[in-house]
Amino acid sequence: MQPIQVHMFPCLSDNYGYLIHDAENDLTAAIDTPSAQAIEAGLSAKGWRLTHIFNTHHHADHAGGNLELKAATGCKIFGPRADARRIPGIDAEYGDGDTFMFGNHPVVVFDTPGHTTGHIVYYLPEDAVAFVGDTLFSLGCGRLFEGTPKQMWNSLQKLMRWPGDTVLYCAHEYTQANARFALTIEPGNPALVARSRAVDGLRARNEPTVPSTLELEKATNPFLRPSSPEIQKAVGCDGNDLVEVFARVRALKDQF
Ligand SMILES: [Zn+2]
Repeated sequence: MQPIQVHMFPCLSDNYGYLIHDAENDLTAAIDTPSAQAIEAGLSAKGWRLTHIFNTHHHADHAGGNLELKAATGCKIFGPRADARRIPGIDAEYGDGDTFMFGNHPVVVFDTPGHTTGHIVYYLPEDAVAFVGDTLFSLGCGRLFEGTPKQMWNSLQKLMRWPGDTVLYCAHEYTQANARFALTIEPGNPALVARSRAVDGLRARNEPTVPSTLELEKATNPFLRPSSPEIQKAVGCDGNDLVEVFARVRALKDQF
């Protein structure tokens, strides 16, 4: 099996668009549809034909291009079962633990409520890649527009069980601002300090900080680190209730 090909490109103000391609079966999926125009440009740059859209959640910068792309290409739209009525043009609904084949590539779906009630992520275990939408960002996590801290912490813990070398593709370039916040609550984490410097260097050259790996996120992302004594001290909460630590980190970030 050839590895899945990933084509990544900036969209709108700070989104990333993704096309994934199975060359052996000539299949191409867009992960979310922030901009139909940008996705069509990406397709023609690669010479690929759109066969699928995999939506993570209903927000307009993720599903807003669905109908235009479906009308233009006849592609099939996959999305969260828990939020099917808010996904324009949905053809197939997926939820926690569902698996499907994208050509030769198994895809496992996880429900990750928190940012929205029906958010899902797509994990390709044999390719060691995952598309995590607005659930996990590089050094951050999605805002809790529809869910609770407990839901989001449960969702993040599902992702934390994947192998450390899993490559994480998130939907936004928020890393530099996330790093600034992370340093306010865990300045004594050398891995975070080093990563923050690396991120500043990449952004100074206008290069993406995405993707990252689960291993790197676990070492540096404050939203995956409520077990850190330094973070617990910074938010004024001991480690007996990791949901409460997570909730306080999220609340501080909201005000940052
Ligand atoms: Zn969103």
